[in-house]
Amino acid sequence: MQTDIPITIGEETIPELTRYCREKNLDRFLLVSDENTHAVLGARVEAALKAQDWDVRTVVLGGEEVIADEETIVQVLLAAGREKWTYVAVGSGTITDITRFCSHRTRNDFISLPTAPSVDGYTSIGAPLVVRRVKMTASAQPPVAVFADLPTLCDAPREMIAAGFGDMLGKFTSLADWRLGALLWDEPYDASIARRYRGTLLKCVDEAAEIKRASPAGITALIAALVESGLFMLEFGQTRPASGSEHHMSHYWEMKLLQENRPALLHGAKVGLGTILAAGRYDVVRRLEREEIARRLTNVRLPDREAEMARIRQVYGPLTDEVIATQRPFLEMTAADFEALKRRIIDKWDEVLEIAATVPPAQEIIRLLEQVGGPTTPQQLGLSAEETQAALDHAHYLRDRFTVAKLGHLMGLW
Ligand SMILES: [Zn+2]
Repeated sequence: MQTDIPITIGEETIPELTRYCREKNLDRFLLVSDENTHAVLGARVEAALKAQDWDVRTVVLGGEEVIADEETIVQVLLAAGREKWTYVAVGSGTITDITRFCSHRTRNDFISLPTAPSVDGYTSIGAPLVVRRVKMTASAQPPVAVFADLPTLCDAPREMIAAGFGDMLGKFTSLADWRLGALLWDEPYDASIARRYRGTLLKCVDEAAEIKRASPAGITALIAALVESGLFMLEFGQTRPASGSEHHMSHYWEMKLLQENRPALLHGAKVGLGTILAAGRYDVVRRLEREEIARRLTNVRLPDREAEMARIRQVYGPLTDEVIATQRPFLEMTAADFEALKRRIIDKWDEVLEIAATVPPAQEIIRLLEQVGGPTTPQQLGLSAEETQAALDHAHYLRDRFTVAKLGHLMGLW
């Protein structure tokens, strides 16, 4: 997978973009934006490309809220026709995902111009889409280049900046969950990526005060961290390093809101809340000494398969078959497998505690999120106490990954 994508972050990115296109002999562009992002950046990009006498077709997606669904995708594909273009995405996560998908399916490349440091998906391969009101992720492609225009990013809505910071804070728990999965469930792991990823995260957290001010230094640190995060996923070839129990909770809420026709929430805002909750689980783990865990696991039995399936059916309704397929490795555990897992957990408990120590306490995650003005309670996101508890209890069924939520569920820790 290509990870040497040229990334430009600066005050004057449009001339850099035209220079890049000239060097690569690109002269036909399909620019995709929405009304907001066209006003803040897209129109200037369009003018700059046209000023080079290049062929530019522009799609400004309309409506209150652009969703990466069938309707929007067809709109872009109709505008594109069967011609050859370099797609240019001027927007935040959703516009980029629509462009990522449409360019990939028409065998074209795309260039990303992020308009908000709100998410780490700019450089990713997957395009989250909503098809028949169900969220799915289509495999597509990363951009061939990223031009991040600092003045535009600094002027992005504050809640989008806070969401980007929330998506980054989620790496505390996703990186810990990843290592936990390797230690206890033999999931593929790359220590070099994990080390560099954590370095990126800590550098970003150090800039929290500057990010709050939306200063050029703070926003540079945030967008650089988000872009690097996407590149680490590309390098590993999966989203595993970037997405743990905090993201599973975010996916749970997202599905629920979609099903109930409620307004969508920013991805990073949900991940921020998920991170507080997942960090709370690590708080519990940290308080358990080895003797205590050995004592508590003595009488723990393999969760009853029928009861697990009934629970999944009750929570996930029409998605039951899909969720059960995902959970097969856990549902098919034998009593002997389960005893071996328990033994392993007890034997490796010191390392589990080491992993838990890499996650800041939930209170510290709250403090960091508050510092940048991000939501820290379910109420602020319009989620009920029941929906919060349901995500804590059931979101781990959504993926086949071993996380702190899975550990606690299987071992009856909460
Ligand atoms: Zn994310």
